[in-house]
Amino acid sequence: MSVLLLLAKIQSSWLQRVTHDLARGTGVRENFEAQLNRFYDLLAHAIDTGDPAWLDQIIYDWSASPTQSELEEGQKNLTTILNHIFAITYATIREKLAEKEALDLTGALIPIFTHALEKAARYEMETRVAFISNELTTVQQKMERLDRSKSNFIAVAAHELKTPLTLIEGYTAMMRDLVQNNENGQFDAVIHGVNNGIRRLQAIVDDMIDVSLIDNNLLSLNFQPVWLGQLLGLLRNDVNPDLQQRNQTLTTVAFPGSETMIFADPERLYQAFHNLLTNAIKYTPDGGEITVDGRTLPGFIEITIADTGIGISLEDQETIFEKFGALGNASLHSSGKTKFKGGGPGLGLPISRGIFDAHGGTIWVESEGYDEEKCPGSTFHVLLPIRTELPDPQLARLFGTQQPEPPQKEETA
Ligand code: ADP
Repeated sequence: MSVLLLLAKIQSSWLQRVTHDLARGTGVRENFEAQLNRFYDLLAHAIDTGDPAWLDQIIYDWSASPTQSELEEGQKNLTTILNHIFAITYATIREKLAEKEALDLTGALIPIFTHALEKAARYEMETRVAFISNELTTVQQKMERLDRSKSNFIAVAAHELKTPLTLIEGYTAMMRDLVQNNENGQFDAVIHGVNNGIRRLQAIVDDMIDVSLIDNNLLSLNFQPVWLGQLLGLLRNDVNPDLQQRNQTLTTVAFPGSETMIFADPERLYQAFHNLLTNAIKYTPDGGEITVDGRTLPGFIEITIADTGIGISLEDQETIFEKFGALGNASLHSSGKTKFKGGGPGLGLPISRGIFDAHGGTIWVESEGYDEEKCPGSTFHVLLPIRTELPDPQLARLFGTQQPEPPQKEETA
């Protein structure tokens, strides 16, 4: 009997066994059966012509379709599957054919299977190399982006640190002169200048520390009862001098939820909202308006800070929350904290986002775009969870089960 006929003799039980062993689930099985039938036909051609290359195409197709996770885990999927198919083939031959027939068919199949395995290993390797080089390109692009933002950050940070240092240097030189000339009466103003410089240095270093805490998931919150209306009122008092200087008006609306007691870290929230409010002042021209409003949503309080400023382009609306994502030209960075468009080290929004995230909240911005002339404005939205219990049961015991009464509302300017 010809070898081809011997192959036909084992066809149906071979197909059944391979399908049963390798494909689970009806959907997978149907597709797999179609593939196996194609494999069988090509195998028959290879035996008929004595040319194992008939199997190359199907092996190539199979090698090109491994899933990403299989590649990531480095599984040798195709060669393993082929080995399995070949083992089942030999077992079926032994079971279904007489000894002489089995020897004939096995003899014909061995060189074809050897060739197929070699091809599979090669194609698989090529697919893997292509996948890895693709990954490498992505990593390289990421590294380049990181490198750019790192150098950008160094330029801006150096500039930001240099300004107060120059200030301190100048004032201490003045002090020396005053001491030399015995003009002790003017010390007050000079010491104020030095203090100013030191405070600004401190603020930048503090921001850097906060970013690193957030980055390393080390930002710990000190949960206490907080009334957002009260917190925003204090903040308003704090930024009042800047508002007056810039001739801007700030409207704070007593929104639903502003009198609700929630557990949160008041200092960190104050810092986060302070960043948002000083940004609103900074990026709004003189005479502009800023509105702080809010509402309650199921489980959350939403606070909005809207300004009539220069706005933010769509592509920047996500990157400004990323560390160093918003760094512009270092030379444009101004020394004034709330001076119009006086850019800072670009850490304010990432820190605010880190603080809201740590509370289980979130922040995003809405703006029609960036236009310094039309001033479309920006609205920052903050969602904070209405947390009515302390997250840590030990702290909850400390405060007791009773919820504290809100303090008297302060009159704000
Ligand atoms: P910076 O120190 O530069 O102010 P931030 O992280 O606070 O850093 O803000 C990042 C960038 O987001 C700013 O440089 C500015 O381009 C943009 N931005 C933030 N708030 C506003 C706003 N209210 N209006 C327009 N642009 C804003």
